Amino acid sequence: MEASRKFDVVIAGAGPAGLATAMFLVKNRPSLAGRIVAIEKSAHPRFKVCAGGLIPKTMLALDELGIALDVPAVEVIRGEAATPVGSVDLSRNGDVLATVIRRDQFDSMLARAATEAGIEIAQRTRVLGVTQDARGVRVSTDGGIFEAQILVGADGSGSRVRRAVFGAHKETIGRALMTDIAVDPERSPEFVEKRYRFDFRCISGGIKGYSWSFPCLISGAPHLNVGIYDQRSHEFTEEGGEQARMIAELVAAFPELPLDGLKRHAARWQSFPIRWFDARDSYARGRVILAGDAAGVDPLMGEGISCSFEHGKLAAGAICKFLDGNSAALAAYDRELHEGAVGKKLGKLAFAARHFYGPRSRLFFRIARISRRAQEIGVDWYNGARHLDELPTRRLIARWARAVLLGDPVR
Ligand SMILES: Cc1cc2nc3c(=O)[nH]c(=O)nc-3n(C[C@H](O)[C@H](O)[C@H](O)COP(=O)(O)OP(=O)(O)OC[C@H]3O[C@@H](n4cnc5c(N)ncnc54)[C@H](O)[C@@H]3O)c2cc1C
Repeated sequence: MEASRKFDVVIAGAGPAGLATAMFLVKNRPSLAGRIVAIEKSAHPRFKVCAGGLIPKTMLALDELGIALDVPAVEVIRGEAATPVGSVDLSRNGDVLATVIRRDQFDSMLARAATEAGIEIAQRTRVLGVTQDARGVRVSTDGGIFEAQILVGADGSGSRVRRAVFGAHKETIGRALMTDIAVDPERSPEFVEKRYRFDFRCISGGIKGYSWSFPCLISGAPHLNVGIYDQRSHEFTEEGGEQARMIAELVAAFPELPLDGLKRHAARWQSFPIRWFDARDSYARGRVILAGDAAGVDPLMGEGISCSFEHGKLAAGAICKFLDGNSAALAAYDRELHEGAVGKKLGKLAFAARHFYGPRSRLFFRIARISRRAQEIGVDWYNGARHLDELPTRRLIARWARAVLLGDPVR
């Protein structure tokens, strides 16, 4: 029989969800250093299809882990959203709305921090299968067998762990595609005004999502990362099919950008699935739990990095309790992902996606445009500014009512 390596915790995937879980584990319990392995099929720094927008919530999580962001980044302080019924200003009096990084550098920075904290990363090792019984979990990989008390599936939207343990449901997988365009920063409003742009008008063309344009730096050179997210589940198989339709919507959203010329250059477009939160899912089965895209992230915007950190923090808390003998701790993690602050936030975003991307979307955009104060609260809530997203719904509604109806300041 093949020899196996033994750990307390095995984590499939060394992206933000896997590395955050590992680092929160060691933060909570330093004695776990050397007893956790993250299995990663690639090697850092590895390319990841992602716009790299970190919302303030993610910056709070980095602070909590004691990680200083030491990769090139562009801070965004202004924002606008074009909607089918007019535009909305997302700016918040100079507050940072997003910090845009490149994922190869960001994830590599996290991997360095994790390694320094005593977490092993088994790179170029692919998880192939999972079995579990009352004594533990066995993870087979192309680099041998790993055994542990607990397995965390943090291996992204196409999670092998999820398929092996939870079954293969694909209905809540959307898709985003993107490209990068070199720009002259002095002539680009995204750089001059430190602005990002969203455009939801593609909803009228049948897309359940939006186009975006973010300023970013690639090897020090100013670029725009532009892309389009569609919550619907479809494969890009036919030539000229959904992918071509999405690119056409993106070109229509940003006609001033030289995107038209890129239409035929398939190699310049990168696309990747995003699994979004579905309250019917479960996130714990036996000794296996899911985190990040493998579990499901923001259905409205496809934002998943802050969610990966939140899942990681909760997973770490649950794992410590489980290792201490609380056999119900992983089931409690599942409940927390449904009913705790992150579950409630994702539930509200799923509700918003159903309405903003639904048959009466114009009505909902009209309502969203009525009150500037309501928009400010919405932006702060979404960004997790000052932990606003963790307020119980009752208090959030009270704050909203005071600001919108009585004119109280939003902060
Ligand atoms: C085009 C696009 C733009 C996006 N823009 C943003 C944005 O601006 N802001 C934002 O917050 N989110 C954005 N997202 C979403 C974000 O990329 C994800 O939510 C985030 O990467 C989730 O982190 P994760 O750790 O769960 O998964 P991942 O980042 O996918 O990490 C999973 C890791 O597991 C590894 N892996 C996979 N399978 C195996 C296996 N079998 N064995 C071993 N290792 C495996 C992968 O190599 C990877 O390193 C975007 C997504 C797309 C597609």
